[in-house]
Amino acid sequence: MLKITDLHATVGEADPKPILKGLSLEVQAGEVHAIMGPNGAGKSTLANVLGGKPGYDVTSGSVEFMGQDLFDLDPHERAATGLFLGFQYPVEIPGVSNVQFLREALNAQRKFRGEEPLSGGEFLKLAKEKAALLKMDMEMLKRQVNVGFSGGEKKRAEMVQMGILDPKFAVLDETDSGLDIDALRIVGEGINSIMRAPDKGVLLITHYQRLLDVVKPDKVSILADGRIVQTGGPELALRLEDEGYDAVMA
Ligand code: ADP
Ligand code: MG
Ligand code: MG
Repeated sequence: MLKITDLHATVGEADPKPILKGLSLEVQAGEVHAIMGPNGAGKSTLANVLGGKPGYDVTSGSVEFMGQDLFDLDPHERAATGLFLGFQYPVEIPGVSNVQFLREALNAQRKFRGEEPLSGGEFLKLAKEKAALLKMDMEMLKRQVNVGFSGGEKKRAEMVQMGILDPKFAVLDETDSGLDIDALRIVGEGINSIMRAPDKGVLLITHYQRLLDVVKPDKVSILADGRIVQTGGPELALRLEDEGYDAVMA
């Protein structure tokens, strides 16, 4: 589904700094691929480059997403094609409710794909179903996007968003950060129920085994200094937790 080949990318406009330095990685349909790695390794940069965030420049290499050149697609085309990004730091949108935002986003994507928009009633039914899955009160969804939400509530709201948009592929950047134990389980199970399917894939960026206890990865890679330096099965994450990056990468 996703094939990244020798990707090089810089960040910063005035004084571009190389961050991704020959990163290669493949995720097949049906797979959850966990990415772990030390702070500053380039994990969030990878997520931002895949999403097409301004300020990040690809200097060489390629990314094939569901048979297309990802970089031929604008960010909104990437999303409508089925790419979802979950952010380490979700943004607040004052003045716009979650319900408005989510319905606009979903209907924009449906329009791009040549599908009919959902009516208000149809949308609310879908939103209720996905909110229930993430054990989120509908009242929360009527509030402004992320305004005054706790860290855990933002992550849950983001997973409700993922459930509603129903993407083919999710890149989730530290979705577990700031979650308490119960929220972690709810979010992890949400990821499983929304994204665990033979025709879907997930790139799961995380620092901790505890999320991987719930969302069991098929593969685990270590990203260090802008490259994938090791790939293994779930046991690699357990070794990292026990021994730390320095020992495992030595
Ligand atoms: P990780 O997510 O693995 O902790 P990041 O991708 O966030 O790492 O950051 C990789 C490196 O890029 C860090 O040294 C960080 O300071 C730098 N970096 C990230 N974003 C920017 C930016 N907008 N401007 C300058 N440097 C940046
Ligand atoms: Mg970090
Ligand atoms: Mg990061």
